[in-house]
Amino acid sequence: MSLLQVKDCSKSFGGVLANDHISLEVPEGQIIGLIGPNGSGKTTLFNSVVGYHPVDAGTIEFKGQEISHLQVPQIARLGLLRTFQQTRIYGKMTCVQNMQISVPHASERLAEMFTSFPAEVQEKADAILEFVGLYSKRRLLAGDLSFGQQKLLEFGMALMNQPRMLLLDEPTAGINPTLINGIIDRLKRANAEFGITLLVIEHNMRVIMNLAEHIYCLAHGKLLADGAPDVIRNDQRVIDAYLGAH
Ligand code: ADP
Ligand code: MG
Repeated sequence: MSLLQVKDCSKSFGGVLANDHISLEVPEGQIIGLIGPNGSGKTTLFNSVVGYHPVDAGTIEFKGQEISHLQVPQIARLGLLRTFQQTRIYGKMTCVQNMQISVPHASERLAEMFTSFPAEVQEKADAILEFVGLYSKRRLLAGDLSFGQQKLLEFGMALMNQPRMLLLDEPTAGINPTLINGIIDRLKRANAEFGITLLVIEHNMRVIMNLAEHIYCLAHGKLLADGAPDVIRNDQRVIDAYLGAH
């Protein structure tokens, strides 16, 4: 059984059919890619999966449980989280503070945030900052990090929740090639060492071919093709969809 199973999901905004009967599945422990030209419906599908908005039709199962009627916090508690195309960090707080407020139920303890986080949260924050390569910057304001480092911080913040599965929306967008390799490496290690299943939206073909075991391609809100990276790379429909988009 797949960890995530999307069946026949549709979503429209006014007259725009952003997702048109999309089906895909993500087996436990794998890294799956989601590609497609701008406006093809990738982010909309993520928003449906994590409960940001309801689908118009179709079902979404996580760990065998129907989740399409649940809200974002309920789905997060089941272990399914997403990161954003536009990074969401608190620029006026340090890296460590960003990490600390990312643990579940942190907002309930917001008042004590700067004084009394439990030692295990501190240790976990330090260990994950080390993992994402930001330990030496942990006392810096997050707003002073480079864009790529902010992406790594956001990834670290998601890891604080020990998710079973992460949806990553263009994790390398706007990042220089050197740091891109660091991000690919971290994503692979999070998958291999922590067992986190990943569904990754990615515009950079080199990145997604390197990362994913299986790739789904959307175009105009529909599932155009899916297959192994080598198959997708040579699929004429996929090539045409990208060429047509420019
Ligand atoms: P992608 O992530 O593949 O670039 P999106 O899912 O963001 O594509 O968008 C798919 C289509 O849905 C686009 O035509 C976009 O304009 C439209 N869309 C997405 N979100 C909204 C929204 N909240 N309101 C209206 N239209 C939207
Ligand atoms: Mg998008």
